[in-house]
Amino acid sequence: MQESQTRDTSWVAQKGGMETVAGLATSRGFAAGEVYLALRGGRIAIPERAIAPDDADGEVLRYRTAQKSAKAQIDKMLDDLRQDGGDDSLMVLASHLEIINDVSFSARIEKCIYDNRICAESAVRRVTDEVRQIFMRMKDKYMRERVKDVDDVESRILRILMDRDDNPFAYLVKPSIIVADELAPSDTAALKKDLVLGFATDDGSTTSHVALLARALGIPAVTGLADISSRVKSGDFVLLDGTNGAVTINPDASTRAAFDQMVEHERQLAEFLAEDSSGAGVLKSGERIVLSANSQPGVDLCDLKRFGAEGIGLYRTEYLWLKSNDEPSEDEQFEAYAAAVRAAGELGGGARVTFRTLDIGGDKLPRMMMQREANPFLGCRSIRYLLRHRDVLRTQLRAILRASAIGKAAVMFPMVSDVREMVEAKSELALAMRSLREDGIPFDEHIQCGAMVETPSAALNAVRLASECDFFSIGTNDLVQYTMAADRGNGNVANLYQPTNPAVLRLVQMTAKAASDAGIGCGVCGESASDPVLGFLWVALGVGELSMSAGFLPAQRRILKALSKCDADELAAYVNGFLDVRTAEEIYDFCLRFLLAKVPRFEDIQSFFTRAQTV
Ligand code: PEP
Ligand code: MG
Repeated sequence: MQESQTRDTSWVAQKGGMETVAGLATSRGFAAGEVYLALRGGRIAIPERAIAPDDADGEVLRYRTAQKSAKAQIDKMLDDLRQDGGDDSLMVLASHLEIINDVSFSARIEKCIYDNRICAESAVRRVTDEVRQIFMRMKDKYMRERVKDVDDVESRILRILMDRDDNPFAYLVKPSIIVADELAPSDTAALKKDLVLGFATDDGSTTSHVALLARALGIPAVTGLADISSRVKSGDFVLLDGTNGAVTINPDASTRAAFDQMVEHERQLAEFLAEDSSGAGVLKSGERIVLSANSQPGVDLCDLKRFGAEGIGLYRTEYLWLKSNDEPSEDEQFEAYAAAVRAAGELGGGARVTFRTLDIGGDKLPRMMMQREANPFLGCRSIRYLLRHRDVLRTQLRAILRASAIGKAAVMFPMVSDVREMVEAKSELALAMRSLREDGIPFDEHIQCGAMVETPSAALNAVRLASECDFFSIGTNDLVQYTMAADRGNGNVANLYQPTNPAVLRLVQMTAKAASDAGIGCGVCGESASDPVLGFLWVALGVGELSMSAGFLPAQRRILKALSKCDADELAAYVNGFLDVRTAEEIYDFCLRFLLAKVPRFEDIQSFFTRAQTV
């Protein structure tokens, strides 16, 4: 086999007429089938036309008509998507609409037509080029990524002006593997999803729009394939491996057979884990560990039942703010919260939803409310923001309380770093209760109220904090970041982002002990709860609930039932003995070996987790 590298992430191997291109494993699963080539072709070539002064008004009118049509197209797609519940696309299309509706954007284009005496297409290109430059110079990664939205808006308006076909899927009539240079959200909105066996794209990352869409729909996808779209033509037969990140074009018989074997192995693994997709989390020795799901507006609530969640341990309410241009009203919030408690109610067993109040700031910045800060992760985040915007907090608490009349709910405050914040937040809860009583609106008078422990100060003051709380939920995503002073999203310091650092373990242990001494519950709702090694470590350190993305619950359930309270005590004793003498890596390796020795097929379970993590 001959290998060549096309760029950092993509490799090509050739053997006879067969080619294997490696890219990013973006959505797990396998597909074999014919290619449907959907090319968007990057930048659209435009006519660079100078115009006579008298024609300028006409060109401005052409632009305004195209702008209106673009707006109508997006409005229609948004309506369709709202009915289908496609939330990631909703957010992206809403930002396109924002650009199209931006008065200064249109004013610049019209001025460009008049000042330079050029046609509407050329003016759109010049102005969008300027806007792209501005975005690309921005320090903020999120803002730099908005360039893609500008590209999408530009190509939509240009296609309308030039009367070009806008649907790259016009000829998709049978189930196929979609190969594309890139796919914009507005393209995939028009796609018939039941005809898609898989996605393979030149462009993209594991967090691109097509990646989110593929994962949400459970369709295998490989992105970052460099030039796959110029290596295939429609009708070619390909094998797509979304689990490992590869596409094979025109496979020979032995490659096909090996592929079929992998598919069979994956099927058996899924079947093995599916045996554990219901029932409580119970240790071999009989102790219960609550296994619940993390959820948020827009996530399919059917997953709760499918993977056997015992409730929602973390409901990230901020996504209601993040996907909208306007602040959600009390009624809008109530609708979303009521849907969540109803879905939890169907799980039986008194399953509850723990609503975390608005956790904005850091990297979660709704457009309408945030002031930019020099150091947002240490700035006016979460509960700090809410205590300075009491109207927002009160409205949200009223909506949560109203939902508590429909099904079991709890309230949780994020980013508590000082006990006074908890005291003040609780007094707002009391005020919200009083206003509902005055309005004669029912709610649960005994609703539980807890704190997220995700700052070192909250963990260090856990004893005092516990006296103000009905429960704790440890947010390890932030707790690790703040303890290690290592930005959770910055790859440059990923080596320091260590959940098993002795400092973090001490804080988790202190928090769990303070909760136990106060007779209140303590869970973990950070990503680490789903990690096969860390989940049981948290249990060993005294945590009684693990809340995670629902898909990981069966694997964690399988691990718990293979282990006993004795195992948990043994692991805790070892780890405690290591705190002064071992590194984070050594402790992680020790836990891994401990579990490999005790849990049947632990390696398989871990490989399932690791691969799902990378997607
Ligand atoms: C956490 O910090 O662990 C957590 C669950 O909150 P988020 O990831 O939403 O900040
Ligand atoms: Mg957090």
